[in-house]
Amino acid sequence: ARVDNPYAGAQLYVNPDWAANATEGGGAAIADQPTAVWLDSRAAITGGSAGNSTGLREHLDNALEQGADAIQIVTYNLPGRDCAALASNGELGPNDIDIYKTEFIDPINEIVSDPKYAELRIINIVELDSLPNLVTNVGSRPTATPECDEMLANGNYVKGVGYNIATLGDNENVYNYIDIGHHGWIGWEDNFQASADILFEAANAEGATPADVAGFAANSANYGALVEDHFSITDTINGQQIRGESSWIDWNNYIDEQSFAQAFATQAAPAAGFPSGLGVIIDTSRNGWGGPDRPTGPGPQTSADEYVDGGRYDRRIHLGNWCNQSGAGLGERPQASPAPNIDAYTWIKPPGESDGSSEEIPNDEGKGFDRMCDPTYEGNPRNNNNMSGALPNAPLSGHWFQAQFEELLANAYPPL
Ligand code: BGC
Repeated sequence: ARVDNPYAGAQLYVNPDWAANATEGGGAAIADQPTAVWLDSRAAITGGSAGNSTGLREHLDNALEQGADAIQIVTYNLPGRDCAALASNGELGPNDIDIYKTEFIDPINEIVSDPKYAELRIINIVELDSLPNLVTNVGSRPTATPECDEMLANGNYVKGVGYNIATLGDNENVYNYIDIGHHGWIGWEDNFQASADILFEAANAEGATPADVAGFAANSANYGALVEDHFSITDTINGQQIRGESSWIDWNNYIDEQSFAQAFATQAAPAAGFPSGLGVIIDTSRNGWGGPDRPTGPGPQTSADEYVDGGRYDRRIHLGNWCNQSGAGLGERPQASPAPNIDAYTWIKPPGESDGSSEEIPNDEGKGFDRMCDPTYEGNPRNNNNMSGALPNAPLSGHWFQAQFEELLANAYPPL
């Protein structure tokens, strides 16, 4: 039978490929940290894709050899992947649901279900940035894209996620965590419950049941601060309620990842139909925001904006910025059960791997060029037309980005 929290008391798998890059990149102090193994293409299953020279079976064998209790994999290859952005577009077209099933999920399942691995907890982080896009980037919203409209209409994100968790969830040692985006996306009223509802739909699609869901994953590959200490959502400054009057918060119901994740687990998920008590894992690989510019106290009480902007750890230009953010640092080191309803702080996005190229780079990985990764870009409705805040000279998504890695080390919080 499954345990309540697969992270509790577990030694997690350290990916030797990432550890080697981290060591070589000057990060020996953190190279022994567990990070997730990304299966971002069919080739990655056997080890043929860029940045993934090791195949899944070899990773699982390594995990046994390390004496690990658990390994984290990210399954990330939906048809029409990344419908609201271009940097992580994938190899499968919008209608390739059958290829997703038979050439991606089934071969993964064949490996995972080998009895040899029965004692290893396999934590499956399911298809980042997919289902929430079907809420926020469709229809008459100013943030809509034709690609997300198509994925909503053809149902292939919902079907793909359903098939993924149903198939892999047949293995007692697999723990499926479905992605819930992050507070700077799903934290607004219009997006919150609607996202839980579409997750529940996927949890009942293609043979899946809610019992196939172990929990949810927040902030994956994003930069949202874990806990903002210097202001709270109910503060009023100089007669202004910061929730509405601060342009940083802009009517969001949450100011940080942990409060968002806890509310999702205890409110939105049960209201959608999920059993209560499911936990959330939070990706803390790049949300530390340390270094010399980290605020040490609240901002001035002169206006809502000055108060929030002066006190916030998250120093992005806008919450909607997501690509190779300048000034970011490593966040909390991976740990189990750090707070109520939080199964773990964990490193899903391997620190040092790019979110996307800052200029167009021809490639055979299906990756596009998203201007949110271009430091000169002035934005779009999804970041309220702000500058992208991205670092320059970035390679394709998933490729090693040494300059970013050095910033992450320098701005780590807790410091190294
Ligand atoms: C890329 C993947 C990569 C992952 C982890 C994503 O942005 O699209 O190819 O495996 O990041 O770095």
